[in-house]
Amino acid sequence: MKKPAQGRRLADATIAIHAGQNKFHLSAPVGTTIARTANFTFANTEELKLWAEGKRPAYIYTRYGNPTLSVAEAKIAALEGAEAAIVTASGMAAISSALLAVLKTGDEVIATQALYGGTYRLMRDVFPRMGIVVRHVETDLAGIERLVNPRTKVLYIETPTNPTLRLVDLHQAIAFAKEWDLISLIDNTFASPVLQKPLGLGFNLVLHSATKYLAGHSDVIAGAAAGSHALIEKIRDMIIYLGGSMDPEAAFLLIRGMKTLELRVRRQCETALTIARFLEKHPKVARVHYPGLGSHPDHALAKRQMKGFGAMMAFDLKGGLTAARRFCDRARVFLLAVSLGGVESLVVLPMYSSHYRMSVEELRAAGVEPGTVRVSIGLEDPGDLMADLRQALA
Ligand SMILES: *Cc1c(COP(=O)(O)O)cnc(C)c1O
Repeated sequence: MKKPAQGRRLADATIAIHAGQNKFHLSAPVGTTIARTANFTFANTEELKLWAEGKRPAYIYTRYGNPTLSVAEAKIAALEGAEAAIVTASGMAAISSALLAVLKTGDEVIATQALYGGTYRLMRDVFPRMGIVVRHVETDLAGIERLVNPRTKVLYIETPTNPTLRLVDLHQAIAFAKEWDLISLIDNTFASPVLQKPLGLGFNLVLHSATKYLAGHSDVIAGAAAGSHALIEKIRDMIIYLGGSMDPEAAFLLIRGMKTLELRVRRQCETALTIARFLEKHPKVARVHYPGLGSHPDHALAKRQMKGFGAMMAFDLKGGLTAARRFCDRARVFLLAVSLGGVESLVVLPMYSSHYRMSVEELRAAGVEPGTVRVSIGLEDPGDLMADLRQALA
């Protein structure tokens, strides 16, 4: 991308299309070239020697880096306002490699309780084997000062959360991390950089399941981390050791998807607000969890720290699990599937997906009822989505 005219900061829509892509040569392809290769040549042994001595960077082997991956990395770094980014084979590859890059035996983590299931289980089942202690806090961070001690190394948060869309106050979280000199990590998957840019507030690392909004078309598993050069290089080392590198074809799909990120998210937010308002008035719906509604406990916070309310929501049906199952089985435009952030609108029952095998008490603590339906709003015509909800609820 050429440098913008002096003093002008490009908007997200422009950045997502042009960042990382150099198209200002004679006959340069406008589309993205896929470097479909495992390895890269050196012209002669002198170049090889210069690379080995660390005197010249080079692409050598795709697990270490690849020009197509670099395009995706430049876009994500530019969107998040980061010095650098790395793309990975999945969101979990980014999350696990980022945490292992900054933690060692004896360290402690403070993390929000409501986490993506894979992250929660990584912390619950794997970290104890490595002597890493994780302490959980609610999204309001109440009592967090009682969980911190000299061994605490990392603050890890997710906001908005799944499936009740509770928010963590980013300013409060970062103030706490700074006070205790913690490395702060945030999973920004649900908001996307279009709605919040935590690095600008002082977070050290932003993580993504790029499978969701960034790629946006439900056709690729991908992840990313963005932050300082130093931290991203540490994560790159872990990706190289543990093998969570992205494939160039996946990078192409991610790049292709990201070009419409801003447009998609803006439209998805608009449709989501319309649908949340409709659901809130429906006689069969007991409660709608959407930060864009005045009834949501974090509505004021969402207005302060997000540029839009997002396109994820959940609602509780008065008829409980039977009604929720009936609704999902009757939906015709909304697909019954896990995941989120794609062009297709989706419904799913947390009871049988993210919160499977939890007791009624555990479900209640997570804000999940047997009759809770989680919704990911896609890009279909809002009128068609509304008509589908109406008939499925009838
Ligand atoms: C899906 C998801 C992940 C995991 O990402 P994968 O790409 O499936 O590995 C992590 N965090 C959040 C919030 C997610 O929704």
